[in-house]
Amino acid sequence: MRHTREQKRAELLKAAEAMIEEYLDWEEQTAKPNLTQIEAAVLKVRRQLSERMAEVAIEDQDAVQPAEAPLCPHCGERMRYKGQKGRTVESLVGTLRFKRGYYYCTHCKGGRFPPQQSA
Ligand SMILES: [Zn+2]
Repeated sequence: MRHTREQKRAELLKAAEAMIEEYLDWEEQTAKPNLTQIEAAVLKVRRQLSERMAEVAIEDQDAVQPAEAPLCPHCGERMRYKGQKGRTVESLVGTLRFKRGYYYCTHCKGGRFPPQQSA
């Protein structure tokens, strides 16, 4: 299901706010951090935000949960929706965790995620 710009904006702002809070906690608890420590803390925030942005983008794709169940690539029969299933993907911006619709073919007794243009 597609999300509106406002929904995505709210989701990203919520995530960014939590990351910034965590960073500020670290800053308060770390007296006189050196450059290496500051770099590590800032890179952690950058990585978390990058991961969340990519996850939100992936979750918004039609292929995550198509309006109509896909056809089985083996036998061509319509597959059955089996609910949301978690996925983890290693990407250039970090480890992405998101949920995708999962489908099952009763004829071939096999399950799969619908094909996706990216990731
Ligand atoms: Zn099949």
